[in-house]
Amino acid sequence: MYDCIIIGGGPAGLGAGLTLGRARRKVALFDDGTNRNRVTHESHGFITRDGIKPHEFKGIGLKELENYPNVSYFNKTIIEIGREGNEGNFIVRTRDNEEYVSEKLLLATGIQEMFTIESIRSFYGKSLFSCPYCDGWELRDKPLLILAEKEEHVLHMVKLIYNWSNDLMVLTNGKELSHEGMQELAKHNIEIKIEKIDELIGEAGYLKGVKLESGEIINRTQGFVAPTYYRPNYFAEKLGCEIDEKGRVMTDPRCRASQKNVYVAGETRKPIPSSLMIAAADGNKAAVSINTDLTEERF
Ligand SMILES: Cc1cc2nc3c(=O)[nH]c(=O)nc-3n(C[C@H](O)[C@H](O)[C@H](O)COP(=O)(O)OP(=O)(O)OC[C@H]3O[C@@H](n4cnc5c(N)ncnc54)[C@H](O)[C@@H]3O)c2cc1C
Repeated sequence: MYDCIIIGGGPAGLGAGLTLGRARRKVALFDDGTNRNRVTHESHGFITRDGIKPHEFKGIGLKELENYPNVSYFNKTIIEIGREGNEGNFIVRTRDNEEYVSEKLLLATGIQEMFTIESIRSFYGKSLFSCPYCDGWELRDKPLLILAEKEEHVLHMVKLIYNWSNDLMVLTNGKELSHEGMQELAKHNIEIKIEKIDELIGEAGYLKGVKLESGEIINRTQGFVAPTYYRPNYFAEKLGCEIDEKGRVMTDPRCRASQKNVYVAGETRKPIPSSLMIAAADGNKAAVSINTDLTEERF
């Protein structure tokens, strides 16, 4: 019987595990290694860890948890979460059919990308990126592609990324832009190709060019894309938690979901993708909330 089960060992889950461990709570943390940034070779912007490899970041986090024998880490996938009665303890089941029980539950399972062109995935994190704060510096002043289909995404990304490089070419994969949108890009000498994309050319994650339906090949090898996002599991829905129209799990400002003893941290509860630092801080916040509630309930 654990005080808290944490599902997810990204920065949110690890941050929560550390804080709850130090608060002497008995914690089980589950992670199956599908953290969103696993596809990239370097992470940036986390002060003291700028440029670290994602697996090293996770390795340091897990090593620090080893200092707290009351925290157990399991490299396992959770496939089901039930409750003893309506508001009772949580029973968490792993893919290999083990069951673990806890009083509190923290969902820190993150989000995942969806791409309208599936082959973008093979280049994501090495040649194509979504967050200029994470990877813009490394791409500064280079000729870049912007792959985005909706006009609002095109204009948002162009304006933002322009400060890192003003040599931009927009590919909309067959989606028209408004006259005003086209003018806005023309004003800044940004070329736009409305044509559908036939193929992304390259290997081992490194883009060599993009072939359009006409056969024209765009010889640009790096750039930014605008994915959409989804949560990879429906634990919160199944537990009866409120979800908003954007698909995020609704919480109060202290990370408490609408169902008793369910807490949420990291990108699972954010309206837009964030960063390692914001997710880690959110994990810390959720852990303080869980510990405060346990303290009040048990003192
Ligand atoms: C290509 C790329 C580059 C990035 N670069 C940077 C960067 O340079 N700097 C930066 O600050 N941010 C970067 N990010 C963003 C960063 O990865 C996220 O903001 C951060 O990982 C969110 O943390 P999280 O803890 O909410 O979720 P995640 O890190 O995604 O962690 C969620 C965890 O939950 C686990 N999980 C999910 N479901 C289950 C289950 N059923 N059972 C067991 N475990 C489960 C997964 O294994 C995963 O480890 C990048 C993202 C991408 C895609």
